[in-house]
Amino acid sequence: MNNLIANIPTPQQKRIVIIGGGFAGLKLARKLSGGSFQIVLMDKNNFHMFQPLFYQVATAGLEPSAISFPFRRLFHNQKMSISELRSYKR
Ligand SMILES: Cc1cc2nc3c(=O)[nH]c(=O)nc-3n(C[C@H](O)[C@H](O)[C@H](O)COP(=O)(O)OP(=O)(O)OC[C@H]3O[C@@H](n4cnc5c(N)ncnc54)[C@H](O)[C@@H]3O)c2cc1C
Repeated sequence: MNNLIANIPTPQQKRIVIIGGGFAGLKLARKLSGGSFQIVLMDKNNFHMFQPLFYQVATAGLEPSAISFPFRRLFHNQKMSISELRSYKR
């Protein structure tokens, strides 16, 4: 696959890139939002998965859609880019 360049606006503020919209990434993104940084949340999926309730889905107690939440529902009016991190440079 070619290297893709995300179409992210160049900010006036400093940019913070958070890799992964799991528990940790979401909490950090929410904590920093509205502050003086441009927050870029990258995830290979377009949804957050609430893992503690996997067993409920496995035992047919819940629909899969009950434990996965699209990021667009969590972050209104924000640009989203679905990307998978394959490598990085220090
Ligand atoms: C079945 C199960 C039950 C659990 N029950 C509990 C519980 O009861 N209580 C509790 O405290 N904890 C529980 N946990 C543990 C808890 O879910 C994890 O500790 C927590 O999700 C870890 O958070 P995280 O943000 O580090 O990673 P995750 O929540 O796993 O998020 C990682 C995110 O990064 C994304 N990602 C991964 N690789 C890439 C990449 N290369 N590029 C872009 N995006 C990427 C993934 O798509 C995902 O969205 C449970 C876990 C499981 C599996």
